[in-house]
This record gives sequence, C-alpha cells and structure tokens, in this order.
Amino acid sequence: MEALHAVFGHPVAHSLSPRIHAAFGRQAGIALRYEAIDVEPAGFAAALAAFAARGGSGANVTLPRKDAAFALCTEASERARRAGAVNTLVRGEDGTWRGDNTDGSGLVRDLTQRHGLDLRERRTLLLGAGGAARGVAPALLDAGIGELTIANRTSARADALADALGDPARVHVRYLDDLAAQGEFDLVVNATSAARGGELPALPMALVGPRSVAVDLSYGDAAIPFLAWARAAGCRQSVDGLGMLVEQAAESFRIWHGVRPETDAIHAELNNRAPALVTAD
Ligand code: NAP
Repeated sequence: MEALHAVFGHPVAHSLSPRIHAAFGRQAGIALRYEAIDVEPAGFAAALAAFAARGGSGANVTLPRKDAAFALCTEASERARRAGAVNTLVRGEDGTWRGDNTDGSGLVRDLTQRHGLDLRERRTLLLGAGGAARGVAPALLDAGIGELTIANRTSARADALADALGDPARVHVRYLDDLAAQGEFDLVVNATSAARGGELPALPMALVGPRSVAVDLSYGDAAIPFLAWARAAGCRQSVDGLGMLVEQAAESFRIWHGVRPETDAIHAELNNRAPALVTAD
C-alpha cells in the first residue's frame, strides 16, 4: 500500500514539496502519495485528524503553523524542542504525533555541503524570529558560528528566541533600526517572510563587506528583493532557500522511510526553472 504524506500550510499551492517527495519516492523505489493541504490556522488540528483518518502517516507543516504543530505533538525531538517549532510530523501506532524539525539541519547541510561554506566563527545576523528562524538558529549555533545577532520587526519575539537559545555569550538581540551601528557580518540570513508582501525591511549596506555571504530562506520570486540587496551591497556570495528546502525534505523523507535520498538531481531540476536565483563567486 502506498504511504500517504502531505504538507499543510496556508497558502500552500506554491509548495514544491509534493514534487520533491515524488522524486525521492521514485529514486528510492517507494510508492507514496504526497498531497498539499491548504488549511487556515484555526482549522489545522481538525484537518490533521481528518488526514490521519484517511491513513496519513506523516506530514510537513509550513508557515504559519509550525508552533501549533509543536503544541499538538505528544513527543518532540530535541531539535524541535529547542526550536519550539515542528516542520515534520510522524504518526505513532497509537495515533499520537511525534514532532521533529529538519529546517536547521537542512540549511546547514545546504550551506556546508552544497555551497562549501565553513560556518565556524562566522559573525552572523539572523533577520526574523518566526518559525523558520527558530528552526535554523540552534543548528547554526551547533555548526560553530561565532556571535549570533537576532533582529526582528517585533523585538519581543527576538528576545524570546534569544532566551530559548540559552547562549547569552554568543546570542544578542538588536533592533532593526540599530543595525547600521553593528558593523559587518560574515553571514546575513533572511528568515523573514517580508518579501511575500513585497516589503523588505530597510537594511543598511554597512552590514556586509567583501567576504560576507547572504542567505535567504525564501526562494523563487520571494527571494529576489533580499538577494538583489545583497548583490548591491557587495556580498561575496548569495544563496536562496531552494537548497535548504530540498535538504529539509530529504531529512523528513529519511525520518519517514528510513532512507536518505540523493538531492543534487532534484535541486538542479528545480534550480533550472529559475537559474538566476542562486549565485556564487
Ligand atoms: P513566520 O513564522 O510567519 O515568521 C515570519 C517572520 O517574518 C517574522 O519574524 C516576522 O516578524 C517577519 N516579517 C513578516 N513580515 C515582515 C515585514 N514586512 N517586515 C519585517 N519583518 C517581517 O514564517 P516562517 O515560517 O518563519 O517563514 C519565514 C520565511 O522562511 C518564509 O519566506 C518561508 O517561505 C521561508 N522558509 C523557507 C524554508 C526552506 O526550506 N527554504 C523553510 C521554512 C521557511 P514579526 O515577528 O514582527 O511578525
């Protein structure tokens, strides 16, 4: 019988996850069905229960309900607990859900293995404090970055993320308006969804120098404003979130099916649709 999986989000029609998981299934010789389910935040728990009743055994959760997914899990992995956010759900035999978060390992794997970046001691700026930022921050710290500065439109959420990370020697919070005074960063990570509304926060050019790398967790049209800013500011390298998307999906696939798929082929296939989105020197 084919396994039933899905990604839940709102909106979700744009999601590339069904295509990525179909490719992984073909590669691994595993019969699976992977749906995209559009659900308003208020209807998430009921939609997940209906999905389980149809035989759904695992799910991804995308914005904006990763914290709600965390809340309804009876058990969560250490990395999901540190993030307070779940992007991967696994249904147990007793019908309860176990949560995991593969966003952070997906980003680190993309940056270190696909793009060959050494993250150690990198002075890092994280823009945003939503579900994606919470997922990637612990993984970046574990990968050995230096100082981590978090700036978010709603500063209380940045404070909450910094508190949850529990690493006051390395993690600091700054207001978006004060970034011009913070000097150059080696790594600037955009984990906001600002560009979806077409409005990137105003970022000073002084944040980057000739050795800086800019990373947008978004991909496709949503990544264009930040990556254009990064190029104009003189970043050495800019990377969009397509590789992270593929790597977090591969890690979810491994959790569900016990096999980690090869990711280069599907990354190249999706990247060819929009080759301007990933640049490297
Ligand atoms: P989220 O939980 O809704 O958080 C959104 C974040 O963006 C918050 O920090 C929010 O600030 C900030 N923001 C929104 N509009 C803004 C604006 N106009 N100006 C400044 N800040 C603004 O969403 P998420 O799940 O973290 O996702 C964030 C982005 O990462 C999305 O574009 C998503 O597609 C991408 N993502 C990519 C991957 C991947 O695999 N490549 C995985 C996960 C997420 P406030 O706290 O002030 O509201």
